Amino acid sequence: MKRFSILASISLLFFNADALSSSISVERISEQLHILSGKEYGTSIGVLVLEDGIVLVDPMPGSEHLVELDKTIRTISEKPIQFVLNTHAHSDHTGGNEYFIKKGGVLVESLPKIEGLEHINVKSHSATDNIYYYKKSNVIFAGDVFDSSWHPTFYAGGTIGFSEAIDAILKLGDDETLIVPGHGSPVRKSSLVEFKKNTLLWIAKVKELHQKGWSENRIMNDIQVNEILEKFNVTGKTPFIPEKAFKRFIQRTITVIDTEKGGNKAVGADL
Ligand SMILES: [Zn+2]
Repeated sequence: MKRFSILASISLLFFNADALSSSISVERISEQLHILSGKEYGTSIGVLVLEDGIVLVDPMPGSEHLVELDKTIRTISEKPIQFVLNTHAHSDHTGGNEYFIKKGGVLVESLPKIEGLEHINVKSHSATDNIYYYKKSNVIFAGDVFDSSWHPTFYAGGTIGFSEAIDAILKLGDDETLIVPGHGSPVRKSSLVEFKKNTLLWIAKVKELHQKGWSENRIMNDIQVNEILEKFNVTGKTPFIPEKAFKRFIQRTITVIDTEKGGNKAVGADL
């Protein structure tokens, strides 16, 4: 009996500690807009508080995380969840849809009828990438077309799809516009210009070495290739990405290059 009560006290202690420490960070952008990010997925979640309710962008998955996300949203506003939007169909951006639909949110799949919210459609990271621009707060949700915490992932649109997507984002707003990546910290347009430059540099370098007949391993060990990869490491992580991910990035870049050489401007493969 005594043992049971000790265990019960310990679990109660853990429960309380859990309740106190949130794994979701909150960044206030403006009165209407907060960006939330869960440690588990790192997905940027938009909480847009409008007159009639909340517009939620990219709720990440995970049942226990969603309860916490819900609680965190409640610290921002008591208004109901009115609409749920996704930048693209991958589960780390859509996994929480059902949870918030059950709570009354309406999933908006095409052009949202939300005042002040502009929507454009591009193809770069996935077959359908939605870019949302909320003018009043001067913020763009770029989804995984842009990532400030990882290397670029342009596998569905290839070189052209990627360039067109970044150019389309750059045309929205002005120099003060804040761009929220699918993962990582929000940035200004100058960082997006840099991201485009580095991505094209990466593709060109891998292409040059691949066409010389270099193996994936040899490309991986090239100093210049490593230097270009490091340009995406904006937060200075050591190592930036695991070796397996580095190799996969080279392999997938080669697939894009080979497909484009074959005359297809878009790879078509969804991540
Ligand atoms: Zn993602």
